[in-house]
Amino acid sequence: MKHRIIIATENAGKMREFRMILEDLGLEILSMKEAGVSPDIVEDGTTFAENAEIKARAVWALTGDIVLADDSGLVVDFLNGEPGIYSARYMGENTSYEIKNQNIIERVAPAPEDRRTARFVCAIAAVMPDGSVLHTEGAVEGVIAHEPAGNNGFGYDPIFYLPEYGMTSAEIPLERKNEISHRGKALEAMKLCLKEVIRKESR
Ligand code: IMP
Repeated sequence: MKHRIIIATENAGKMREFRMILEDLGLEILSMKEAGVSPDIVEDGTTFAENAEIKARAVWALTGDIVLADDSGLVVDFLNGEPGIYSARYMGENTSYEIKNQNIIERVAPAPEDRRTARFVCAIAAVMPDGSVLHTEGAVEGVIAHEPAGNNGFGYDPIFYLPEYGMTSAEIPLERKNEISHRGKALEAMKLCLKEVIRKESR
């Protein structure tokens, strides 16, 4: 059976990344707008995976297609995993990232150098036409920088230092960031899962 994939996001950048990576599955890929749906979604899960599934299921309930959604954020070990699933809402949705980033730097300041570890995490959920769900997750490891640096990227990128590259996630060129990103890894893993499901179906 020929399926359509709907991506449950309103973010144009994410949409591009999903399209680029999933292109070779040979399925029609639609944004929510293109599918003509805009559900009200309450992200009240307690994990990235739960929130991704909540978003995907809300769109699936309206369309019955394969629906993919992601949820991501910054996990800081010294802050017991904060801001985690609250990354977008940390200190309030309308607070600037300049302030959020400064706040995280201050809270991590008492940590010994080897306890400044953090990671960007992305969970992707795919709800299938029969209502079953596939989950994948990707992460990129780093440490909280002592000062913000760089103008590329968004959100917490200026304080996320990648020791392997000797720069923050806001200093690394965008194409390079996409290659190593948490979202890219979760998405590549999801592509393999979907390929397997499609292969089994066509037998
Ligand atoms: P969402 O998954 O689009 O809801 O993103 C959650 C939040 O996590 C974003 O608003 C950012 O604060 C943060 N975040 C997720 N991925 C990144 C990234 O690659 N760089 C910087 N911040 C990120």
